Amino acid sequence: MLPTLTLRDGPPYRGTMDPSGLPDSSAPSGVHDVPSLPALDRRIAGCRACPRLVDWREEVARTKRAAFADWTYWGRPVPGFGPPDARLLIVGLAPAAHGGNRTGRMFTGDRSGDVLYEALYDVGLASQPTSAHAEDGLELYGVRVTSPVHCAPPANRPTPAERDTCRPWLLQELRLLRPTVRAALVLGAFGWQAALPAFAEAGWTVPRPRPAFAHGTRVTLPAPEGDDLHLFGCFHVSQRNTFTGKLTPAMLREVLRTAAEAAGAPTRK
Ligand code: SF4
Repeated sequence: MLPTLTLRDGPPYRGTMDPSGLPDSSAPSGVHDVPSLPALDRRIAGCRACPRLVDWREEVARTKRAAFADWTYWGRPVPGFGPPDARLLIVGLAPAAHGGNRTGRMFTGDRSGDVLYEALYDVGLASQPTSAHAEDGLELYGVRVTSPVHCAPPANRPTPAERDTCRPWLLQELRLLRPTVRAALVLGAFGWQAALPAFAEAGWTVPRPRPAFAHGTRVTLPAPEGDDLHLFGCFHVSQRNTFTGKLTPAMLREVLRTAAEAAGAPTRK
């Protein structure tokens, strides 16, 4: 399975992109003038700012998992996925080595994504319950999925320095979504800690002390100019959480539905 479709600046990123000719974006800290989400997605996909993560994602893409030996892994940063006028933003942690790093699309091709997209479909935010590869036709309705770190990290653990290096990409994404986004659902404590500073930089007021992460937490971030953001915490959809029952399908659907309704995104009754 090859990620082969060409992305121009016009259409939103649907999980496929021609990797040839991507700009080398080695300094995300200097990002402040990207005009659109498709343009941002291209910039992110060319990023090489974190040496450890560049080495890891490319090594995984070379060595592969035996079950995916016939795949051409994406092996690059994985941009956010979903419409550029999303009302709800879901923020995860980072792509999985053999999931997003293989398929080129957020939460696609791994067990965490199976759990997330099935729930999104059940709530009415996705066109289908499965997310197998980047050309499977999946569409998201009113929701965009992203992460504070765009490259697969060893052991699913980015360092604080890598998290901070990647934050300008999230900040730019928030600025571009700001006209429409009304709620954010953050999966797990890592994403919560990484996202709060970006929300603050993007113009929402984050309380001091910063609200602690917990499943079901709901915080309103006022905006001095524009609309407030309704922020929700949810346990991450990792296998560790879903296999142990820490996060059940019912818990995930409930918080997803609540966040979608707060955002004014379309839900299925
Ligand atoms: S983690 Fe983010 S900043 Fe680091 S190389 Fe990947 S895209 Fe670039």
